[in-house]
Amino acid sequence: MGKLDGKTAIVTGAGRGIGRSIALKLAAEGAAVVVNDLDTEPAHSVVIEITEMGGTAVSCPGSVTEPEFAERFVGLATEQFGGLDIVINNAGYTWDSVVQRMTDEQWDAMLDVHLKAPFRILRAAQPVISKLAKAEAAAGRRVHRKVVNISSATGLFGNAGQLNYSSAKAGVIGMTRTLAKEWGRYNVNVNAVAFGFIETRLTEAPADGNATIEVEGREIRVGVNPALLDAMKMMIPLGRAGTPDEAAGSVVMLTYPEADYVSGQVLVTGGGLAG
Ligand code: NAD
Repeated sequence: MGKLDGKTAIVTGAGRGIGRSIALKLAAEGAAVVVNDLDTEPAHSVVIEITEMGGTAVSCPGSVTEPEFAERFVGLATEQFGGLDIVINNAGYTWDSVVQRMTDEQWDAMLDVHLKAPFRILRAAQPVISKLAKAEAAAGRRVHRKVVNISSATGLFGNAGQLNYSSAKAGVIGMTRTLAKEWGRYNVNVNAVAFGFIETRLTEAPADGNATIEVEGREIRVGVNPALLDAMKMMIPLGRAGTPDEAAGSVVMLTYPEADYVSGQVLVTGGGLAG
């Protein structure tokens, strides 16, 4: 018996990093998972991993920023698995510059992927959720559904070089608190998790100082220089970065029945980091 048996979950950016761990953990607790990623191959391999461990998953490749994506994503969950219980808005990346060098393109890209895409997914999910919640209420049943939006400590405390990213991640917190108020009547718990420093390709120290990732045809510099990484670790009470597995654990626990009375909250998963 898993804690999420019979549930259907959709997870964006689940082909690698924290999203991958979230998808695996949800599946291990019995949820059927729709695995999205911009990159087709990583999304497929996560589906294979889940299937091989005896779970249920289907992939939904594509960019969350495509205007038609949200309907396709939510539609796949309902068509394949007949419902929608858990929505995890995780897909994202960073594209840093100081304010005087930040282009409109950089600004828009961060707002699009971190804020507009989750908004569209949640908007597309509303008719499905409200219909199910009304039917359950008519049958005298209360079923909790869960939304977890991924924010960042940067969205709470700020970070030099990340005006675009921190603004978007702060917006995620506003979206979370507002939707918790709108969707309480459907028994949907809406929370955010703000990660501190988690070891993924976004935060690794590149050997030659030049790590890049490719996102929608753009070559984007990521990574943190080793001296800054050491300084960041000194600011973390637990004295180290978190693993993708630890980060995912803090997201998935909010989807468990134990969290049925937790809503509108921002959980900082940062090893004690407080500003
Ligand atoms: P990651 O790069 O390891 O994984 C992110 C995944 O999202 C990738 O597989 C990528 O292909 C996918 N993705 C990116 N843009 C996409 C798009 N437009 N459509 C669909 N998929 C897309 O990064 P991660 O560290 O696991 O980041 C996951 C989330 O956690 C992000 O929202 C990130 O901003 C947030 N976060 C991470 C950290 C950290 O320290 N790693 C800290 C705070 C917040």
